[in-house]
Amino acid sequence: MSATKRVALVTGGMGGLGEAICIKLAMLGHTVVSTYSPGNAKAQEWQAGMRVQGYDIKAYPCDVTDWNSCVACVAKVAAEVGPVDVLVNNAGITRDMTFKKMDRVNWDAVIHTNLDSCFNMTKQVADGMVDRNWGRIINISSVNGQKGAFGQTNYSAAKAGMHGFTKALSLEVARKGVTVNTISPGYIGTQMVMAIPKEVLDSKIIPQIPMGRLGKPEEVAGLVAYLSSEEAAFVTGANIAINGGQHMQ
Ligand code: NDP
Repeated sequence: MSATKRVALVTGGMGGLGEAICIKLAMLGHTVVSTYSPGNAKAQEWQAGMRVQGYDIKAYPCDVTDWNSCVACVAKVAAEVGPVDVLVNNAGITRDMTFKKMDRVNWDAVIHTNLDSCFNMTKQVADGMVDRNWGRIINISSVNGQKGAFGQTNYSAAKAGMHGFTKALSLEVARKGVTVNTISPGYIGTQMVMAIPKEVLDSKIIPQIPMGRLGKPEEVAGLVAYLSSEEAAFVTGANIAINGGQHMQ
């Protein structure tokens, strides 16, 4: 892939998928910034660990559900690192329960963290990308936004909404060298998925995956790397599935 160095910002870059994405983009020579939740006590430790591994990944506090926090975070990144060329909207949470049990708090938390975050963060960087005639916005959605999932009305709605956002925004910035794409991973072996009881994984989830295994964070990171590259300049408004054959549209 091409060698132009860019500034890449990955929300939730300290999570299972986020870390793999940060490392992959750093390996390609990009200047990588991760956000972390303001209350994340392990942030400094994570950043130090990255340095030990040889990746100089900077980390900034940001609550992606909070507009003012996003404004402050991206302004600081722009001042200290540079304008953001690649934004990966990766931060996300689940709060699974049947619709019957779901209350407003768990609905709002998931919509705010997965979907409102895309507005809050993309607003900070989109105009600059358009002005510079180059940008990549990559939204990490989910197979469950494509097909729905039992116990995930909140998450499926938020993740499907992310792709609606992708499609509409991609039209508005297409002539300005800015691409906007969605990645919809299936089950990837991160903490979020490993928190599912093993018997449920073995009896209900793995059997749904024709490849018979969970995906690897590095496999999703490779796709992010491609979509961030010069070679992906003609890919926009796409929703790329990476799910081991679990769901085909
Ligand atoms: P993790 O739980 O490991 O990581 C989620 C990240 O989101 C954490 O780094 C967390 O930061 C961050 N985050 C959560 N809330 C906020 C907030 N309010 N402000 C800022 N950051 C926040 O999950 P994964 O790595 O597994 O998932 C990453 C993305 O991929 C998510 O959007 C998820 O929905 C999606 N996905 C994951 C799949 C999987 O199988 N793992 C499958 C399909 C999609 P902190 O720790 O600092 O709070």
